[in-house]
Amino acid sequence: QVSTDDLLAWVRAFARLVAEHRDALTELDAAIGDADHGANMHRGTTAALAAVDGAVPASPGALAKKVGTTLVSTVGGASGPLYGTFFLRLGTALGDAATAAPADVAAALRAGVEGVVTRGRAEAGDKTMVDALAPAVAACEEALAAGRTWEEALAAAADAAAAGRDATTPLVARKGRASYLGERSAGHQDPGATSAALLLAAAAETLG
Ligand code: ADP
Ligand code: MG
Ligand code: MG
Repeated sequence: QVSTDDLLAWVRAFARLVAEHRDALTELDAAIGDADHGANMHRGTTAALAAVDGAVPASPGALAKKVGTTLVSTVGGASGPLYGTFFLRLGTALGDAATAAPADVAAALRAGVEGVVTRGRAEAGDKTMVDALAPAVAACEEALAAGRTWEEALAAAADAAAAGRDATTPLVARKGRASYLGERSAGHQDPGATSAALLLAAAAETLG
């Protein structure tokens, strides 16, 4: 069972990883965007953690929703509404139960990714955060369906997100600012896919 404290630990780990990788995220965005992804995500995850750390919401779903609304209102740029939507949909899918079973968390992660796709209209291979998020959720579901443990499913999700992130490098961007560069966007790792891999690494660290 995944508790509210587990989700809080996830947000805390994500904020820590973003802080550690802040400059690297900004450098990636300097190459194919406007050099603000590290600052955007650092501002957002710091605010999101502050919003749920002092007065911890009553359920995993409520915590996820609070994180979502905070990200939307603090991040700006393309990534704020997208990460915000991810957490809002995740929270809605989790409902107000005090704890969530692994299969329910996997389904909620799926709902979160579907929200990102609906909002941003990016498809697989468009060189966006979806290229890390979508394979991660698929790997998590496959691992659970194959009877593997929740810890193994989370590890598989983190590995798939990292592989998806790496696979963005040769791609030509078709969504977001990087798409303005056309063919010149190839040869650079996508910043949003990189932060999304951090989100899944944080999940593997904390939700199992
Ligand atoms: P901005 O581009 O507005 O400065 P950020 O730099 O914070 O915002 O975020 C850029 C990242 O957002 C990209 O690397 C990409 O992964 C992601 N992104 C941009 N547009 C979309 C979209 N339509 N769908 C999914 N992800 C997107
Ligand atoms: Mg940017
Ligand atoms: Mg920007």
